[in-house]
Amino acid sequence: MQKELVVQKFGGTSVGSIERIRNVAQIIKSTAQSQNNIVVVSAMAGSTNKLVEMSQEMSHKPQPEAYDMLLASGEQVSCALLSMALTDIGVKALPLMAFQAGIETDHSSTQAKIARINPKIISSYLNDGYTPIIAGFQGISHNGKQSIVTTLGRGGSDTSAVAVAVALKATRCDIFTDVDGVYTADPRIVPEAKRIDKISFSEMMELASLGAKVLHMRSVELAAKYQMPLRVLSTFQPNEKGTTLMNPEDLLESPVVSSVTSSANETLMSVRVSDEVAQYPAKFFRPLADKKINVDVIVKTPQNSNNRSTISFTVPSQDTAMAIEALKPHEVDVHQEPISKVSIVGLGMTTHHGVAATMFETLEKANIPIFLVSTSEIKISVLIASSLKDDAVRAIHRAFQLDK
Ligand code: ASP
Ligand code: MG
Repeated sequence: MQKELVVQKFGGTSVGSIERIRNVAQIIKSTAQSQNNIVVVSAMAGSTNKLVEMSQEMSHKPQPEAYDMLLASGEQVSCALLSMALTDIGVKALPLMAFQAGIETDHSSTQAKIARINPKIISSYLNDGYTPIIAGFQGISHNGKQSIVTTLGRGGSDTSAVAVAVALKATRCDIFTDVDGVYTADPRIVPEAKRIDKISFSEMMELASLGAKVLHMRSVELAAKYQMPLRVLSTFQPNEKGTTLMNPEDLLESPVVSSVTSSANETLMSVRVSDEVAQYPAKFFRPLADKKINVDVIVKTPQNSNNRSTISFTVPSQDTAMAIEALKPHEVDVHQEPISKVSIVGLGMTTHHGVAATMFETLEKANIPIFLVSTSEIKISVLIASSLKDDAVRAIHRAFQLDK
């Protein structure tokens, strides 16, 4: 019988030391009995950060081509070490940097997008009986006579793995990381939080955009687009089931709410503007975008007297001063206490009513005032004082019985 083809991706913590790389080699070896593996690795934990620091010491404005070459070196190290470990335990492995594996990207250094992967290159290694060990996060871009090393943006090795799985038509992509899946809430805040066995791609995309660090956003997008089954597994408990991401149609019945999450400190700002600015706010927001300030929840309140409106929005707390500066000469009213965004995500919301009402009642009972609300089809977010964030998450988790 033909063995199934699986892409296995190991994150930075999983390959964080020589000992851990040996452990990963054992996982690959034991799974190889029932499947053909293609392996994608991250850099050893902390090493990419160190490379970023070195470049900052060297230059205020590092040359992008050099910066990417420097950052890509982290994955080169873990890839080579893992291949050695596998060879030592009798697995026929071969380390491949992205250019050797045929992973081509566009030409945008530090945020490159994968343009194509030539599947013939990796398959020929598989046909020769090798387990290819591929450096994640990096690519090669050919532009005329120039070829440059590129990287996909921080956390991008998940995206490398899914792209390889899609290109090689693998059965699935297994992401081995330091947690054993996606949870109904952060277990550090809610000890009763449960691991979610199955979740839809769209819910996971919402969670990733809300700051869940488990998977690189683009990897989930890519998996959804090509319907590539994706599993999140723990390297340290590889026999646990983990969380499987799938199409909503393949989930028999999805809970109304799957997960509660919360963001780090943000600052709430309000600016009184003319109706004209409120109606055409592009010029108002442009200076923030130019300073790369991530504006989140935006609410406009029309005013009926003296032609003034209010635009309220949030920015990450560390960008507060920069945002005030960027918006000059507008006078910015800054909400004094830090705020956090608490969100619930669930596919079942589209067909159930009363979800928002339950969330608001729960917060009211806990005496937690809400400043702003924003929603998508499968998400409700509220802005509340950061000091009450953990209480809110716990109360909401209980109200939707996510511990059951
Ligand atoms: N090593 C890269 C980073 O730290 C890519 C990754 O780990 O996914 O961002
Ligand atoms: Mg990662």
